[in-house]
Amino acid sequence: MSTRPSTRPSGWRVVALGALLAMGGAWQAVAILVLLAAVLWAEEIWGALARAAGAVRARARARRRLELLEDRLLDLQAAMALQGQALPAPCAHEQAVPVPAVGGNVVAWLCPQCDTQLPADFSTLEAAR
Ligand SMILES: [Zn+2]
Repeated sequence: MSTRPSTRPSGWRVVALGALLAMGGAWQAVAILVLLAAVLWAEEIWGALARAAGAVRARARARRRLELLEDRLLDLQAAMALQGQALPAPCAHEQAVPVPAVGGNVVAWLCPQCDTQLPADFSTLEAAR
C-alpha cells in the first residue's frame, strides 16, 4: 500500500459518474471514462493480472513438481521390484537330497528348493555351516 496521497479520484466516484453518464445516454463519455479509469488504475489492474498469472504459474509449477515426484516414486518402486527379483532369498540347500549312482555311491546332491546340482562332497551338514 502506498502512503503518498493519491491524486486520483476514488473508484466509486468514477463508477457513479459513469452510471450518471450512461443514464444520460452519453455512451461515448462512458467509454472515455472507462478508458481513463483503465489508464489511472493501470498499475493496480496490471498488478492484479500479474498476481493472478503468478498464481496460475505457481500452481502449474507445483503440479509439474508433483508429477516429477510421482515419476520418481514409480521409478524407485520399479527399481525396488527389480532388486527384489535379482536378489532372491539365498538358498542354503538345507533340503538337498543325495543322488546315488547304481552302486549306491552318492555322486551328487540335488536341492529341490532351488534345483541346484551340488558336488558329491556336498552335505547338508556343510550347508548348515
Ligand atoms: Zn538350494
